[in-house]
Amino acid sequence: MDGSGSDAPAIGIDLGTTYSCVAVWKHDRIEIIPNDQGNRTTPSCVAFADSERLVGDGAQNQAPMNLANTIFDAKRLIGRRFSDSKVQEDIKLWPFRVIQGPADTPKIVVIYEGQEKAFLAEEISSMILGKMKETAEAYLGKVVKDAVITVPAYFNDSQRQATKDAGTIAGLNVIRMINEPTAAAIAYGLDNKSDIVGKINVLVFDLGGGTFDVSVMTIEEGGIFEVKAVTGDTHLGGGDFDNRLVDHCVQEFKRRFNKDLSGNRRALGRLKFACEKAKRILSCTTRTSIELDYLHEGIDFLMKFTRAKFEELNMDLFNRCIEILETCLSDAKMKKSCIDRVILVGGSTRIPKVQHMLQDFFDGKEICKSVNPDEAVAYGAAVLASKLSGNIDKSVQEVLLHDVTPLSLGVELIGEVFSVVIPRNTGIPTSNAKEYVTTYDNQSSIDVKVYQGERSRSTDNHLLGEFTISGIPPAPKGVSRVTKCFEIDANGILTVTASIISTGKMKKLIISDGNGRLTKEEIEKMVSDAEKYKLADQEFKKKADAYNALDDCLYKLKNKIKESNIKTRVSLEVLKEMEKAIAETTIWLVDNYAAPFAELLHMKAHLEFVCKPLF
Ligand code: ADP
Ligand code: MG
Repeated sequence: MDGSGSDAPAIGIDLGTTYSCVAVWKHDRIEIIPNDQGNRTTPSCVAFADSERLVGDGAQNQAPMNLANTIFDAKRLIGRRFSDSKVQEDIKLWPFRVIQGPADTPKIVVIYEGQEKAFLAEEISSMILGKMKETAEAYLGKVVKDAVITVPAYFNDSQRQATKDAGTIAGLNVIRMINEPTAAAIAYGLDNKSDIVGKINVLVFDLGGGTFDVSVMTIEEGGIFEVKAVTGDTHLGGGDFDNRLVDHCVQEFKRRFNKDLSGNRRALGRLKFACEKAKRILSCTTRTSIELDYLHEGIDFLMKFTRAKFEELNMDLFNRCIEILETCLSDAKMKKSCIDRVILVGGSTRIPKVQHMLQDFFDGKEICKSVNPDEAVAYGAAVLASKLSGNIDKSVQEVLLHDVTPLSLGVELIGEVFSVVIPRNTGIPTSNAKEYVTTYDNQSSIDVKVYQGERSRSTDNHLLGEFTISGIPPAPKGVSRVTKCFEIDANGILTVTASIISTGKMKKLIISDGNGRLTKEEIEKMVSDAEKYKLADQEFKKKADAYNALDDCLYKLKNKIKESNIKTRVSLEVLKEMEKAIAETTIWLVDNYAAPFAELLHMKAHLEFVCKPLF
């Protein structure tokens, strides 16, 4: 093997929850690299036996005999905390042991070479990545260093970072992380070049073993890929469908034998393995059965499944896929009729019911099956890897990528009003500036509070950072102007600059990923909260507007009353009455910050009535 490594091409790796795939640019095209068993995808599975460690097919094949030491689903753990409720839910179903390590990190405990050993999810993932690296090296005859690794679109910063660490542990130089649906769209785009005339809208529906991702993207002639919106669920996929079958078996076992096997890890592991197989078979036939000898307390278990039963057990999960799909379309501000192509990615899109539901949803539109659902992601990753390492092939060089910001970014205005500067799902890199005026006379400084979120009230969102810009020259309220400029670069790093227009004075705040940014759960929660609280937010906004309108009215009246000719127009008595109303309302406003909308309206109407001569 050529040890220099310098001329080895960069590879693309789809590190899946259940299966991984590696690809490379060779012979002027992308090649999916088969492993030592001749398979084009490799189970993301690591097993520890008495004297050996097995990765991939070997590990999966011996799983039923060595359940406690066969690790899969490491991607469900990576970058998560042990106390995470999702992790706790998963632990109940896994036949292997997971314990709480330092700093709440989960650790997977196995017996290896007769000793108890605890591994981080990163370490398990690095073993799978190492296997993919070896697979590529055997095929290329060279040491591979550089790789592009894919992650689900909704992976948070810590999950991405942990995946990158896994690459480093495997001896790879991770040149880029890319979202799986984006990679799939690149694969589609390169394969269907002649189909792409002008600009087309593509929906990538990726239902794998552990995650579900939907993305709306545009592909432009010449290879420009732009993500318009991404939505997903990091806990929805084939594994959940398997679990439904397992649960069903557990209940059936109880009914038939009056015995609860849910505490028997070995039995659960065997059931899961058998149910997954049954599920696959039900994608091409309508009935099958599983047979497990000595499943629990010496009892043999035979269970028949029909496709209809499988669908019934999972219907709510399938419906959830469609709901998420709808959210994604509405985020992209697209009607379903605007979608030109629907690309199926992930092994679970082979389920006939899922395909039918999708086809129905898109009113019978043909669903694209031209890209191989198991390979598309690795294919796209390899295209990007090749481009980044300087491949001069025209079609590869033309690939450009655009990502989006997952939540709205903005600043706080008076009364905790959230003013959005860059809306959610805006393509990055991007920049936008908004002008704001001073809110009281002779205001010399402005606090810039930067928030991220979807709620109308700033404090319901996530504070990213704050700073103060001072040195505003004295002037009446509303005269001095300050520009607040938001800039997000290609790596997702946000820079906020405030500048005083009259003097040109500037102040900057740089907020990078992982520094005040949100976790995936926080993002999901904020988006769903935003829906839930939409009504409350509208109320708040109405009230805030009424408050500001009254404040503004007072300000104008105060200025008008100072005008010299006022005394010639109204009697002293009327003038006194107006001054009294203005003073009283001013005090009232300060004391009644939380006044209801109706009261604010009433106060303003009263003030306008008394001060009619001023208008
Ligand atoms: P991931 O990217 O999450 O590893 P994959 O795209 O490799 O997932 O898909 C794996 C999932 O697809 C597994 O849950 C597997 O059981 C499921 N799967 C594979 N083939 C089929 C099939 N023919 N019918 C139903 N499900 C399938
Ligand atoms: Mg996948």
